[in-house]
Amino acid sequence: MSTGVEACDESKLLDVAYMQFRNAVQQLALDPGLADVLWRGSRSYIVEFPVRMDDGRIRVFNGYRVQHSTHRGPAKGGIRFHPNVDLSDTKALAALMTWKCAVMNIPFGGAKGGVQCDPRALSLGELERITRRFTWEIAPLIGPEQDIPAPDVSTNAQVMAWIMDTYSILQGYTVQGVVTGKPVELGGSLGREAATAQGVVYSIREACLARGIDLEGATVAVQGFGNVGWHSARLLSELGCRIVGVSDVDGGVLNEKGLDIPALKAYEREAGTVAGAPGAAGIDNSELLQLDVDILVPAAIEGQITKENAARVKAQIVAEGANGPTTPSADAILGDKGVFVIPDILANGGGVTVSYFEWVQNTQKLFWQQEDVNMRLDSIMTRAFHEVLDIAQRNKVDMRTAAYMLAVQRVARAAEVRGFFP
Ligand code: GLU
Repeated sequence: MSTGVEACDESKLLDVAYMQFRNAVQQLALDPGLADVLWRGSRSYIVEFPVRMDDGRIRVFNGYRVQHSTHRGPAKGGIRFHPNVDLSDTKALAALMTWKCAVMNIPFGGAKGGVQCDPRALSLGELERITRRFTWEIAPLIGPEQDIPAPDVSTNAQVMAWIMDTYSILQGYTVQGVVTGKPVELGGSLGREAATAQGVVYSIREACLARGIDLEGATVAVQGFGNVGWHSARLLSELGCRIVGVSDVDGGVLNEKGLDIPALKAYEREAGTVAGAPGAAGIDNSELLQLDVDILVPAAIEGQITKENAARVKAQIVAEGANGPTTPSADAILGDKGVFVIPDILANGGGVTVSYFEWVQNTQKLFWQQEDVNMRLDSIMTRAFHEVLDIAQRNKVDMRTAAYMLAVQRVARAAEVRGFFP
């Protein structure tokens, strides 16, 4: 199969994503031509656009939107603002969205986008101007039936509101369904903000049941204290878990007796980091991954658990809140150690699932109660978890390969039955 990825460099997310896909293709004995279509049939859009900064200077930013697949429905996936955003990573993250939507069995393809920038060094006004200009640049591609952005690393409901507003101005009328993860006042769904974490927690609950671990009193370490990390830590502590370690990009904290998560959030809001929070010892990000806990939630960015540190991971369950946190070599090491890895395309699928609920509510102009959202999310996550577990057990493969097998087969069927134009 011609791939565009010749040798696997595990520091490259695109290579990692391809390795993971290829494992599933081999297990499924998929036709090589069809596999090539599924891996490469994407559309990539590169934009370079000017923004006036607060000091009056003009800066040109690089932005990307990749639609990896539309076989099962409109392209779907977040937009991130981060210094490392580039075309290669955006392609990989778009592919992960295709498989994630297929695992969750929601009627979307996969997409991802981003702007290469450091949001920590930008004012609110600069962030708004970058967002609006980027939206204008990608406006021909997006739309409620074409491609629907959502929050990702360093973007949030406010950014989605600016995207919706800019797109709506261009159309001449309000188009709620063009983005998900919007503020509730603009047609966002109740429960969307915490949805990714809520899904992570449902998947952890099922993994604990499968492994015979009591969730109440289980010890947890969480890497990342953004949307996914913070809500995961909060929800797990509300369920009676002991969150002993939390870290962010600037450092981490450890308290064997359990961290007070709301107090830690209050500290982080002021200080801009969890590092240095009172009543806890300081640790760094690599120490956090190696803590002696039952459950580890990597909820920061890709490439964190690698062949260098995987042997020192002590957790029994790794629930991937982030996209792509574990490299293939690390996966093999964790597998040999008997660690139960809930892969990203399953563990963090709750975010895009509630995005789907939001899109449905926008389409129907009929809004659901929070309890309905969580109940439906629970049922979709639980079903997906057990479909994947079943494939893993029947085929004697790990959960990631099983999740990919489920996803790739679903997209392959859609592609085949649609046929190949012309
Ligand atoms: N950025 C999230 C993810 O990686 C959510 C995507 C969405 O809701 O479209 O899954």
